[in-house]
Amino acid sequence: MVMGKVQVGAAVICAATVCAAAALIVRHRMRCSSRWARAMAIVKELEEKCGTPIAKLKQVADAMTVEMHAGLASEGGSKLKMIISYVDNLPTGDEKGLFYALDLGGTNFRALRVQLGGKDGGIVNQEFTEVSIPPNLMVGSSDALFDYIAAALAKFVAEEGEDSELPPGRQRELGFTFSFPVMQTSIDSGTLIRWTKGFSIDDTVGQDVVAELAKAMGRHGIEMRVSALVNDTIGTLAGGRYFNKDVLVAVILGTGTNAAYVERAQAIPKWHGPLPKSGEMVINMEWGNFRSSHLPLTEYDHAMDTESLNPGEQIFEKITSGMYLGEIVRRVLCRMAEEVAFFGDTVPPKLKVPFILRTPEMSAMHHDTSSDLRVVGTKLKDILEISNTSLKTRKVVVELCNIVATRGARLAAAGILGILKKMGRDTPREGEIQKTVIAMDGGLYEHYTEFSKCMENTVNELVGEEVSKSIDIIHSNDGSGIGAALLAASHSQYLEVVDS
Ligand code: ADP
Ligand code: MG
Repeated sequence: MVMGKVQVGAAVICAATVCAAAALIVRHRMRCSSRWARAMAIVKELEEKCGTPIAKLKQVADAMTVEMHAGLASEGGSKLKMIISYVDNLPTGDEKGLFYALDLGGTNFRALRVQLGGKDGGIVNQEFTEVSIPPNLMVGSSDALFDYIAAALAKFVAEEGEDSELPPGRQRELGFTFSFPVMQTSIDSGTLIRWTKGFSIDDTVGQDVVAELAKAMGRHGIEMRVSALVNDTIGTLAGGRYFNKDVLVAVILGTGTNAAYVERAQAIPKWHGPLPKSGEMVINMEWGNFRSSHLPLTEYDHAMDTESLNPGEQIFEKITSGMYLGEIVRRVLCRMAEEVAFFGDTVPPKLKVPFILRTPEMSAMHHDTSSDLRVVGTKLKDILEISNTSLKTRKVVVELCNIVATRGARLAAAGILGILKKMGRDTPREGEIQKTVIAMDGGLYEHYTEFSKCMENTVNELVGEEVSKSIDIIHSNDGSGIGAALLAASHSQYLEVVDS
């Protein structure tokens, strides 16, 4: 066969084009594969920096125990405030009557009304209303915030049914769950130390929280006495104890994190009051502010902390709680987009918006069991406006969620071990099956199953098989609200006249 000149020329050009195209593809692949390799290097680095081997967790637990001792020894002796709650009468189950509670802890607040039946009567009736806090009130004035709360409470009280009658001459009583650091001055008073969890209202710091609430209730014509000021951990401890006498510890994992436990009053050097009859005192640890050189912190954590409303504070909270986990994942993704074009040549603008990726969305992605990770794809598209992600990319996103959640869950477990050590309940006891029950609550614990499973497994791993049989971790649903009502009952001003 003879090829004409023209044909030969065309064939040569064609071949050259094919070669050039092939070279482009190869180069593109190489660029992609090196991009991918660099992206994987970022993931691997994160995984290493977030590592929580058992030996490290034990160091964290020991540091927690040491700080607990220091905080109990003297005021200001530790990053852990170890606040004396003045709660020395946890509910017994015999409480009786009508009580209210207010629960202000973060994104929402709730008002509750419970009718307690007395011995063996249990909770006869309970009702509640939930209202979200408008973001502008979280950084506004104290009066505005408390007025908003009092207005909702007034409305709720007005809906009280006829069955909720009070004995004559008796004022309604309320337990106030206020989940921010408060220096307690008695069971029913305390001053705010600082705001956390995105709240920032200067004129309240140093003020008596109960007085602020009482003023606002007065402005709204509510006749009610605040008989107990607690936080969510103490409320959860009380709520758990009402149903189970072995509850000794409460841990909250929600927007923020904190823990409370029952301490021997004699083991609190800074307590100068009379020894309570029960010999016990509930301690509000404020463990969110824990920090230690053993904590595995990354560049993302440091940057997030620096840019936060409370830099240098609440470091433990910033790596374990719901307000922050999604934000940490966003920061990693943002770096991957910026440095290795993980989502293509331009950085998706939404990815640069702080706190746009919330922990519930992170948890939805982490829990995605579909074979093509459909939920991850949808979330990336809906929240971050990143479309057409490959399965490979989605898998990386799930991996990031896993790394960040696992670190948080395992550190929370280490914190619990620290408390068990302080209580002397981390080692097997000869011939004694003494239960230690830990009451848990908070949206993160409740809804982020991968997180809570990991935390529970880690507690068991840390204490070992023998001791783990004596430790129960239970979900004390909604303990913080009911608990406050129960504490208003067990510390009621009418206790002497109550005929139970
Ligand atoms: P708060 O701590 O504000 O009193 P909650 O205990 O209800 O309130 O916790 C709410 C927090 O729990 C949210 O801010 C969020 O971080 C976390 N959360 C809620 N739902 C989920 C979810 N499905 N997955 C993971 N975290 C969640
Ligand atoms: Mg709460």
